[in-house]
Amino acid sequence: MGNESSDFRYNTGDTKVPWAAVGENYNAADTFEFVKFLMQGKGAKYNAALRDVKAAIAALGKVSAPPGKLSMGDKVAEVEKAIDQYLGVEEGSSLFVSNCTAALELGYRYAGVGPGDEVIVPTNTFIATVAYPLSVGAKLVFADVDPRTVNMDPKDVARKITRKTKIIVPVHIGGYPCDMDAIMKVAKKRDIVVMEDAAHGFGGEYKGRKLGTIGHFGCFSTHEVKNCTSLGEGGIFVSNVPEYRAEARRARFLGVDFSSKIKNWLYNVSLIKGKGRVRYQASNNASVTEIQALGLLLQIKRYDRILRERTRLATYVTKRLSKIPGVMPQLLGDAKVKPTFHLYQLQIDPKVCGGTVQTLKAKLEEKGVTNIPHFGPIYRFSAAIGKGFDEKKIAATCPVTEKVFDERYTHLPIYGLTKEQVDFMVDAIAASVAEMKAGK
Ligand SMILES: *Cc1c(COP(=O)(O)O)cnc(C)c1O
Repeated sequence: MGNESSDFRYNTGDTKVPWAAVGENYNAADTFEFVKFLMQGKGAKYNAALRDVKAAIAALGKVSAPPGKLSMGDKVAEVEKAIDQYLGVEEGSSLFVSNCTAALELGYRYAGVGPGDEVIVPTNTFIATVAYPLSVGAKLVFADVDPRTVNMDPKDVARKITRKTKIIVPVHIGGYPCDMDAIMKVAKKRDIVVMEDAAHGFGGEYKGRKLGTIGHFGCFSTHEVKNCTSLGEGGIFVSNVPEYRAEARRARFLGVDFSSKIKNWLYNVSLIKGKGRVRYQASNNASVTEIQALGLLLQIKRYDRILRERTRLATYVTKRLSKIPGVMPQLLGDAKVKPTFHLYQLQIDPKVCGGTVQTLKAKLEEKGVTNIPHFGPIYRFSAAIGKGFDEKKIAATCPVTEKVFDERYTHLPIYGLTKEQVDFMVDAIAASVAEMKAGK
């Protein structure tokens, strides 16, 4: 049946009358449109270069054949291998899927999360982290955050575990590693599954291990706003549970099972085996395209350079901001803890600065620094609380979160900024804090 990721719809074979590989492929003129989309511009020089490219692609079109497969082929297998190597995990651990939300679902389903079960999550994350448990009527239990890293506090996780806890989901927010040893320790005592939401953490390290490879499972996003992308959308599911690797692979495509056949048919559809007695029918098709795989492969090949640039910019901003009393800049990590600097996370001490971060945010926006506060306490969303739960009661169990988000914390852009833009941002922070201290 060809490679593991192939599916019956594309099994062309070497026959006189093969099964059509795809409905319709792309021709040279279409390919030119792709190039034009990926390399935009205007003006005489651009138009002249474009005409040369058009002629060259037309010439290539006369002597070339289109790819046999557009979905789930060799490129997908190749990028999965590259990810395994980059992360330092056993071959076959990584699965390239349609997005991180779909990757997270694979881990939740392994743990058998259902109605009434409890799921421990941090307060500050994107709704994608908790979408699956909410959709099946599980109860979200919010762990408070560490005041400095704004990551899940393992001590609060330990306090909030009950007999109903099925899974703990640490999120390496902004790419700063969670205290994984402490989280793994409390989970192990009770045989609870740990799934790292490493949407921001690709390439980050914790005590010599890459983020996303420490828990039972790790999930990455390759959406266009994350550290590396597969042409806009994508995700990676990493399984540290060897017996779930083939299961998750099958779950990616509806549980279709080529290893067994039913009577007079090509394949079977079998249930996915999760933890213990958990069995489920896969409900999603999280397949990806060869073009997405190629896009991701190219970015992973230069990923060390991408991380170095993020680290360089964050280090520079932290160095400058640490000179301002009352400003607590992004932590830079050390030999054991290596962040990915997906976001530049900033805090202030309201007492020293003479005002809260809400004032600082407004001042920065006035001065022209984009304010995108996209992570906050998700229990403030009515949808994230669920029926019968009370926002005030939940907030009362997360006092650090309440204080940090209302008074101390924000995050700033970092990657892709020029020296001028970075300096402008730091100067704007310095000026705003000075105004606040002067009571303005
Ligand atoms: C972006 C993000 C996700 C979801 O990623 P998609 O690939 O868009 O599904 C999950 N968790 C966090 C923390 C994120 O920021």
